[in-house]
Amino acid sequence: MNIILLFPDDLQSPSHARLTGRRLTHVLEVHRAEEGDTLKVGLLDGNLGTGTVTRLDAEALELDLDLVAAPPPKLPLTLILALPRPKVLNRALIAASSLGIHRIVLLHTARVEKAYWGSPRMSEENLLHQRVLGLEQARDTVLPTLQIERRFRPFVEDRLPALASDSLRVVAHPGDHPPCPRAVEGPVTLVVGPEGGLVPFEIELLQVAGFQPVDLGPRILRVETALAALAGRMF
Ligand code: SAH
Repeated sequence: MNIILLFPDDLQSPSHARLTGRRLTHVLEVHRAEEGDTLKVGLLDGNLGTGTVTRLDAEALELDLDLVAAPPPKLPLTLILALPRPKVLNRALIAASSLGIHRIVLLHTARVEKAYWGSPRMSEENLLHQRVLGLEQARDTVLPTLQIERRFRPFVEDRLPALASDSLRVVAHPGDHPPCPRAVEGPVTLVVGPEGGLVPFEIELLQVAGFQPVDLGPRILRVETALAALAGRMF
């Protein structure tokens, strides 16, 4: 946790916050802060700054806030991610959020097990929590948006063209394709497949929608590693 992320509900006034639960435990056990210490904080979808501890005990952490700095700019990167298995989903959401991806779409594809959609990790609470963990890691405050698309074809044919318009469109797909472009100017829409990969029919449909398959080299990377490599090359 490299910042303590504050939610509107934590604010008792614009310059004072009261926290309990996970963040209180973290400050007690990891920061081991004391009254008078300053901690790095940020307000969800707002500024970054400091919080001076005015109370810290088993019940609550209270902070006087000085929120003066803008959060880092998001990457102009939309990620369309084949729904990973639940454990990997959490890691992928943290990675995507900490990398500064501004929009995430979770998509069904042929090699996504249907049962993944019913996992408890698909709860709104968990989907929010994992993105928040990524923001706390990265010292960012701006939550990436999240969209759920449970049907591949209608999404790719009907909604993807508008969503990806005016962006460079790439689908990461291991194989004999051009390499992933480097240092891209402007927005990118990126499709990343599931652990079993995308099937030829899906690649064809994405190509019709203007997506170019790109390769990251001979190593097959885990989804969260591929995300870091792809974002690092392009931005
Ligand atoms: N078993 C699959 C690989 C899946 S890896 C196969 O052999 O094709 C999961 C996803 O990460 C892939 O669908 C792709 O989007 C991305 N990925 C991982 N390694 C990659 C690489 N070397 N080049 C391009 N994309 C890669």
